[in-house]
Amino acid sequence: STTLDPVDPLGLESLLTDTERAVRDTVRQYLADKVEPHIAEWFEQGELPTLADLARDFGELGLLGMHLDGYGCAGMSALAYGVACRELEACDSGLRSFVSVQGSLAMFAIHRFGSGEQKDQWLPRMAAGEAIGCFGLTEPDHGSDPSSMRTRARRDGGDWILDGRKTWITNGSVAAVAVVWARTDDGIRGFVVPTDTPGFSAPEIKGKMSLRASVTSELVLDSVRLPASATLPRAQGVSAPLTCLNEARYGIVWGVTGAARSAWRTAADYAAQREQFGRPLAAFQLTQQKLVDMALELHKATMTAMRLADLKDSAEGVHPAQISLGKLNNVREALEICRTARTILGANGISLEFPVIRHMNNLESVLTYEGTSEMHTLALGQALTGHAAFR
Ligand code: FAD
Repeated sequence: STTLDPVDPLGLESLLTDTERAVRDTVRQYLADKVEPHIAEWFEQGELPTLADLARDFGELGLLGMHLDGYGCAGMSALAYGVACRELEACDSGLRSFVSVQGSLAMFAIHRFGSGEQKDQWLPRMAAGEAIGCFGLTEPDHGSDPSSMRTRARRDGGDWILDGRKTWITNGSVAAVAVVWARTDDGIRGFVVPTDTPGFSAPEIKGKMSLRASVTSELVLDSVRLPASATLPRAQGVSAPLTCLNEARYGIVWGVTGAARSAWRTAADYAAQREQFGRPLAAFQLTQQKLVDMALELHKATMTAMRLADLKDSAEGVHPAQISLGKLNNVREALEICRTARTILGANGISLEFPVIRHMNNLESVLTYEGTSEMHTLALGQALTGHAAFR
């Protein structure tokens, strides 16, 4: 063809299989019908009023634990999972966060490190969206350095007693099950904690100016008594939660290209319609430079995500530093794309009538969670130079 598709100038969508395209279109259609008409209002109100229904619908669409095998999970390719994350985050980062935490953190932890009994008990209900999960690693005094965590699990006869506090936990107060990481005499271990266990509470964090359409909570563990069977038997040391984070970061690498795509399209449409000085904004060289630079970074980011998908599905797998490369680059560039889009919309750029500032504010959280951009810079710095500069 002689014409360039402005939304896909490199023809990257043609690299998707029929299945991956079907995932893309099904998720996109579902969100257009059920979520997009309400998302700005939910963001403004700071709540997800239909979360239980959304969770079940996501379960029916096969989005929960989508890349896991068995236990009612869809067992899809890394690329299909990435494409689903992209569509979710094109709607709102809060939706992608919900799916990431459910599938890549809580379900993945149980799937990879859990006992047969834990898997049977939780995974099918989580895949169906009937049981929501959360993942508690961050603490008030230990964020980027989780290996210094203070939450403690001690033995009492055959039982475990957990004491401590986690914070900034996505899905915390709506979860039926929390995967909680705690220090033991044998190092850091993971625990599967039903949230109705006495001593467990999850107060919601209010006043967020980012990810407002997402539930974020503290987890308070006050002498929470658990049976011996509550530990994740195969998780030993801080490398276990970091393995889970790597899974979720992969989804972020894809997701943020959705937020950036939404901002780019909004800005391009706006620039085509809006006239100043007798011409559309799109006809000014300065606006074209913005739109072109945004498009370059968007499609480079998508290519990075596609390469990571191939690596993830390959026999040798993807190196954590490669995921760091994608997370660092794609979140940074998506945020920059949203900020530039905001300028093109002028005053309308700050309004919830358009998705741009909502995406922009959401991406401030995405820049920080799952390893801050500074942590990924240091991880990549170590991989490239051989010197660790973390402390
Ligand atoms: P800190 O670690 O205190 O860092 C503050 C600043 O210092 C950052 O810029 C950081 O990069 C920088 N810094 C720290 N150490 C160094 C260093 N060595 N060199 C240079 N700079 C450094 N956590 C969970 O466990 N589960 C969740 O579900 C979850 N959901 C979240 C949802 C939201 C909306 C948010 C905002 C956070 C969530 N988090 C969650 C927490 C998130 O992972 C942490 O915020 C993140 O790891 C950073 O920790 P911190 O906020 O304590 O910042």
